[in-house]
Amino acid sequence: MYFTEEHESFRQSFKEFLQKEVVPHINKWEKNGIIDRFIWKKFGDMGYFGLNTPEAYDGLDLDLFYTVIFLEELQKVNSGGFAAAMWAHAYLAMTHLNKEGSEAIKEKYLKASVAGDLIGCLCITEPFGGSDVAGMRSTAEKKGDSYIINGSKTFITNGVLSDYLIVAAKTDLHSKHNGMSIFLIDRDTKGVSATKLDKLGWRASDTGEIAFDNVEIPASNLMGEEGKGFPYIMQHFALERLIMGINAHARAEYAVDYAINYMGERQAFGNSLDKFQALRHKIAEMASEVEMCKEFNYAITKRLDNGDYVVKEASMSKLVSTKMADQVIYDALQMLGGYGYMEEYPMARLLRDSRLGPIGGGTSEILKEIIAKMIIDKKDYKPLT
Ligand SMILES: Cc1cc2nc3c(=O)[nH]c(=O)nc-3n(C[C@H](O)[C@H](O)[C@H](O)COP(=O)(O)OP(=O)(O)OC[C@H]3O[C@@H](n4cnc5c(N)ncnc54)[C@H](O)[C@@H]3O)c2cc1C
Repeated sequence: MYFTEEHESFRQSFKEFLQKEVVPHINKWEKNGIIDRFIWKKFGDMGYFGLNTPEAYDGLDLDLFYTVIFLEELQKVNSGGFAAAMWAHAYLAMTHLNKEGSEAIKEKYLKASVAGDLIGCLCITEPFGGSDVAGMRSTAEKKGDSYIINGSKTFITNGVLSDYLIVAAKTDLHSKHNGMSIFLIDRDTKGVSATKLDKLGWRASDTGEIAFDNVEIPASNLMGEEGKGFPYIMQHFALERLIMGINAHARAEYAVDYAINYMGERQAFGNSLDKFQALRHKIAEMASEVEMCKEFNYAITKRLDNGDYVVKEASMSKLVSTKMADQVIYDALQMLGGYGYMEEYPMARLLRDSRLGPIGGGTSEILKEIIAKMIIDKKDYKPLT
């Protein structure tokens, strides 16, 4: 219904690419917390960063189901951190470049991002609170032909190793939602510093805390219009949240498939585990939940691809799919008994990585707030025109 023969051959070739170029390095990247630079270039050379980018900027301008395949197959490599590094570059940083960047910014940064020569990150969350985006404290003060940026950001994916940063800051401290703007900052600009954070999961991904100390950037690095930062961020959240919903159904599917295989091979009380009715029913339940989320996520992808503004549905996708994935992965780990707890088997990392789903990119509580406002208060979120 959603995937053509071309999609399926893309899936096959991307799978093979991941097995050959990525899988042999994953354990090292997970251990060191750093992804080697060469793989970014390989992704760029293969066109994987430009699936959704217009041809004018060297992208492939393909429909969103290529993105779905990109996300699903990345999850099945079983390194949430590696997957996050790739999709945060291609779909967080690059989405802002593509939608709000000036022609000059796109020529210089978007093309190089598609090629894998430059890596980006998106800096919204601040140490004082991430959920209240409009309450951020970082400032951007206009001085002649420059902006001076001050403040700090935290939990930023690709926050240490990226080459450029897409940063939200207040241009008008007296206005909450209309006082925020988006800027592009080169990593090597004086006054930018970053510290790597240690964390439960996503261990291959470098998550950084970033400080801006009187960072002077040209006024031409303003992205889009001054004061429109909040609606830009909200507009792109629909895609980001759907991405996290798709990631969730894909990693849960991986967990179910792995558990089924394991149960066919593992013996207990003279039988393989997949003969025990209690476990069979559990698997039936898990597979049903994965399938329900997957079908919903595909339907919403189709609508987003058709140009519908799916804020409510993308929020529902992330809310339900990430909760489902955590539970399914918890139960799948149980099927492996002690081996589920061992690093040698995939479930331990999968469980750690999955836990970020209900936190990053809008917590489940915030998603419920948005959904409640839409369905109870009949609030209507409109796209920017
Ligand atoms: C590994 C990782 C990678 C990340 N990558 C990025 C990135 O690339 N870029 C970026 O900008 N951010 C990133 N984030 C940040 C992430 O989006 C935030 O952590 C998230 O939005 C929550 O913000 P917070 O951590 O400040 O929690 P807080 O806002 O302090 O919230 C704490 C708790 O209170 C709850 N809460 C807050 N307000 C309400 C309310 N009104 N009603 C009910 N409950 C509420 C929250 O749901 C949460 O449970 C990342 C985070 C992590 C951990």
